Amino acid sequence: MTDLANLRQNLVARLEELGHRVDDFESSLREPLDPDFAEQATQMEGDEVASALEHSAIEEAQHIKAAIDRIDAGDYGDCAKCGNKINPERLKALPYATECVNCAA
Ligand SMILES: [Zn+2]
Repeated sequence: MTDLANLRQNLVARLEELGHRVDDFESSLREPLDPDFAEQATQMEGDEVASALEHSAIEEAQHIKAAIDRIDAGDYGDCAKCGNKINPERLKALPYATECVNCAA
């Protein structure tokens, strides 16, 4: 298996994991509020945290989907701005980077 196929598999797995996580958030957000007011306040605070986490999970999922699309299109690892190859070390740290270090800076 090539590195890229391997990476694609990892990205797909990560995407699935994020999907499950978002589902969990969704179901916890749908839980009815506790009749006790103090409990409600705590619950709503928890919901806000969950919403923020859900938001970042959705954002990451979008980046990952875009990266998978780029792998399929054959332009993964190319800088979206200057077209140069993105440093492999950078891609290892940030697999869905779309710009090389120079352009991202
Ligand atoms: Zn660039």
